[in-house]
Amino acid sequence: MYDVKSKLASEFINHDEILATLEYAEKNKNNRELIDSILEKAAELKGLTHREAAVLLECELEDVKDKMYQLARDIKQKIYGNRIVMFAPLYLSNYCVNGCVYCPYHYNNKNMKRIKLTQEQIRREVTALQDMGHKRIALETGEDPVNNPIEYILESIQTIYSIKHKNGAIRRVNVNIAATTVENYRKLKDAGIGTYILFQETYHRETYEKLHPTGPKHDYDFHTEAMDRAMEGGIDDVGLGVLFGLNLYRYDLVGLLMHAEHLEAVYGVGPHTISVPRLRPASDGISPDDFSNAVPDDVFEKIIAIIRIAVPYTGMIISTRESKRMRQRALELGVSQISGASSTSVGGYVEPEEDDETAQFDISDRRTLDEVVRWLLELGHVPSFCTACYREGRTGDRFMRLAKTGQIQNCCHPNALLTLKEYLEDYASPETKRIGEEVIAKEINNVPNEKVRNLLVERLKEIKGGKRDFRF
Ligand code: SAM
Repeated sequence: MYDVKSKLASEFINHDEILATLEYAEKNKNNRELIDSILEKAAELKGLTHREAAVLLECELEDVKDKMYQLARDIKQKIYGNRIVMFAPLYLSNYCVNGCVYCPYHYNNKNMKRIKLTQEQIRREVTALQDMGHKRIALETGEDPVNNPIEYILESIQTIYSIKHKNGAIRRVNVNIAATTVENYRKLKDAGIGTYILFQETYHRETYEKLHPTGPKHDYDFHTEAMDRAMEGGIDDVGLGVLFGLNLYRYDLVGLLMHAEHLEAVYGVGPHTISVPRLRPASDGISPDDFSNAVPDDVFEKIIAIIRIAVPYTGMIISTRESKRMRQRALELGVSQISGASSTSVGGYVEPEEDDETAQFDISDRRTLDEVVRWLLELGHVPSFCTACYREGRTGDRFMRLAKTGQIQNCCHPNALLTLKEYLEDYASPETKRIGEEVIAKEINNVPNEKVRNLLVERLKEIKGGKRDFRF
């Protein structure tokens, strides 16, 4: 039985409810009256139910698609302004005991060179990330209780936060590690992590079990109920995602939104972020073409726009799995966070690999961070290296309240400009610096509160004078 408030995966991600939703969507895909009312509701920033979102996904009317895309753009602008938050992944270890068929880290891949970074190697990786200008990372590992136990993760987080190279600092460590226990989530919370991210890969149980034939990740319920345990452990910023291209995207989009509804219903706060990774070629002969449900670009765009309008207050993340062109499109449809200059190899920031022998998957966008920042500026976005919210205790429902009352503009916008200024002073090329300064000068005027605006101008001067790490 479907029960949004149940703590059981089979009830809050209920298979029959998903099938009924897909049937409802098919029946109503040309129901103009219904579709208009769905779009009206979305325009009021009320979000959409999984059933409403499914109808939009099925709908093939060209004018509706245009309206939907415009709406996604408007919602992003209204809630997040033109800010784009920057981050990079940091791979600590590719030891893994799972059998995920789409990931070359899988246990049976005897050709994968296995590496686990020492604390000294982590120090060097973090220094390299700081020297690019990164302030926020997503920590990644394979699942291996012996080689990558929670103690290793905790020690690594401590190391990462402790490194202050020149003016650099990693101020927010998000964590993307395998589903774990409430006790371990509590330890991660105590270590001061930002968001706990875990991709569901697919919500379709049978497919999930086939794609994860062996290892602890095989357990669909344990994986799907991970966010409930994370919440119980005190982590109130959690990040969801589906690995698009593994299963029927219709089923997965509905499952993803049901998961968000479940978190909102039980904990009063939906996911902090939703990622939209798409399957990439990888070593050990892994190719998206071998999976029968590859998601074409036009459908992928529609998925992004629908997520944006269905969960307006949730940050959306797109990684360097996607090309520059697709990332530009995603930014127009509501994405609010992107990675830049990423390496998916263990130790790859210090020693880039020629043959990607420890890489998790191929990267599509291989530009430097400076190039990505300049590109964003030229497109009219404000690249933000801000990490203020969780450091000011604005997590979970406190963050959502801020977002929902529109206060974000007096807080996030000045913080974005302050951190962009730091980036320009410390890391940017002359051309990026020139464009960035112009953007800052213009964007100061978009801070509504006069007091905040004046203080911002003061702080910007202080950053030029050498001070760092201000925040509102
Ligand atoms: N090992 C952790 C777990 O089991 O959830 C998470 C870390 S893993 C390094 C991060 C994500 O990379 C996975 O959740 C998966 O969605 C994604 N991934 C794995 N293989 C991929 C591929 N070939 N192409 C694109 N993304 C992939």
